[in-house]
Amino acid sequence: MELRSLEPLAECVWRHPPRGRMRVPVVFFGDRELLAAMDEKVLEQAANVATLPGIVGASYCMPDAHWGYGFPIGGVAAFDPDEGGVVSAGGVGFDISCGVRTLHTGLDEEALAPVRERLADALFRHIPAGVGVGGRIRLDDEAMEAMLRGGARWAVAEGWGEAADLARVEEGGCVAGADPDAVSARAKARQRPEMGTLGSGNHYLEVQRVGAIHDREAARAYGLEEGAVVVSLHCGSRGLGHQIGTDYLPRMARAAAGHGIALPDRELACAPIRSEVGAQYLGAMRAAINCALANRQILTHLVREVFADVLPAARITLLYDVSHNTCKEERHVVDGVERTLFVHRKGATRAFGPGSPGLPPEFAAVGQPVLIGGTMGTASWVLAGRPGPGEGAFQSACHGAGRRVSRRQASRRWQGRSLIEEMAARGILLRGRSLRGLAEEAPGAYKDVDAVVEAAERAGLARRVARLEPLICIKG
Ligand code: 5GP
Ligand code: MN
Ligand code: MN
Repeated sequence: MELRSLEPLAECVWRHPPRGRMRVPVVFFGDRELLAAMDEKVLEQAANVATLPGIVGASYCMPDAHWGYGFPIGGVAAFDPDEGGVVSAGGVGFDISCGVRTLHTGLDEEALAPVRERLADALFRHIPAGVGVGGRIRLDDEAMEAMLRGGARWAVAEGWGEAADLARVEEGGCVAGADPDAVSARAKARQRPEMGTLGSGNHYLEVQRVGAIHDREAARAYGLEEGAVVVSLHCGSRGLGHQIGTDYLPRMARAAAGHGIALPDRELACAPIRSEVGAQYLGAMRAAINCALANRQILTHLVREVFADVLPAARITLLYDVSHNTCKEERHVVDGVERTLFVHRKGATRAFGPGSPGLPPEFAAVGQPVLIGGTMGTASWVLAGRPGPGEGAFQSACHGAGRRVSRRQASRRWQGRSLIEEMAARGILLRGRSLRGLAEEAPGAYKDVDAVVEAAERAGLARRVARLEPLICIKG
């Protein structure tokens, strides 16, 4: 991307002033290298978002941003319902409430070493993953409705976990306002065989070693120590979320036209928050958030089953569960006035700072854990919510390394089989159902996650707490 059109605002914070029909500026977070390498299309998309009615503050781009459907991935945009603000399916993303959950094992790397191969094989066998691979539960209509309303709380009540898990999930495991009736029969049908499955693509289950600790106080609050073994899983609302996006796009395109909203790009289809379609989408999207939370809860239970068998000394507890494709109703102070806003975070993680309401008391002093994927061959990160004032994107941070090379290019440039061998030589056990899928997710296909999180910290979005190094990676 051309840096000439950007004004530096603060360290790692840049502003592109409003032009044409833009109502607000675009604000980028990142260092020179990350921004220079960013696709020009990210600016174009973020500038389009800035034209939407009711947008507040700016159209924000995280340091891991890359272009997506309508809105960039790594984009944050908040809308005020009192000012005609909108909700957009493309602003949430198709994998609604895709997110990361990280689990403590209570073990250190020495305990794991003798059984690494066995653990990798057992996880690969036991965790349903890959295109068209079903889970072991089938929900009838009544159970589907209860799941869509209850999220991880439903899952725990059904025996998929422990009550204590819920305190360590955003929203206590369940968002209010889910409307299963706003979810199509097709979306529910797609979900039926997919409950408790990981999916494919960049969804993963990883056993990781806690590497360097950057913030001792936050690491203590989060229960992270160098050399400890944790498990992270990344997945979302599976077929249900995807179908909701597909169902609502054309309805939003019609709603936008009906409300006189001129869209610079069809993919920005949206509806006023205070409209029938807007309200229905929000109800369906919240049902999909609950579906994703339930799904990650069921997968947690499957992880516990595997550890009980292979490493019975393990005690699996939650560090935290965060979603990075959502639209949430939140209170934020803008220019000294507190307002209710609908914050879209697409490929962006909520990063509530110290003292924010709704955090578990153990995290009150340090802020919420921000769980960042990286790549199967480099690292992932735990950050902590932002500490104080400054240009903050409504308390949000990055969500990953961010793609650098398209899936198609990656599948030409790397080979699944050699990746498995190269990773094994570095002590990382990689298991996947699709060799092409592995090639698409090669570490080289992503930006440098260490540079991304460093920029996020320098921009004041979040603080680095601990680097997580991969030991075992299970893919679809
Ligand atoms: P997304 O939510 O945009 O689909 O992906 C989030 C992030 O996950 C990506 O930006 C990438 O950094 C990360 N990621 C993709 N594959 C893997 C993997 O196999 N292991 C880890 N640790 N991270 C991954
Ligand atoms: Mn994701
Ligand atoms: Mn996803």
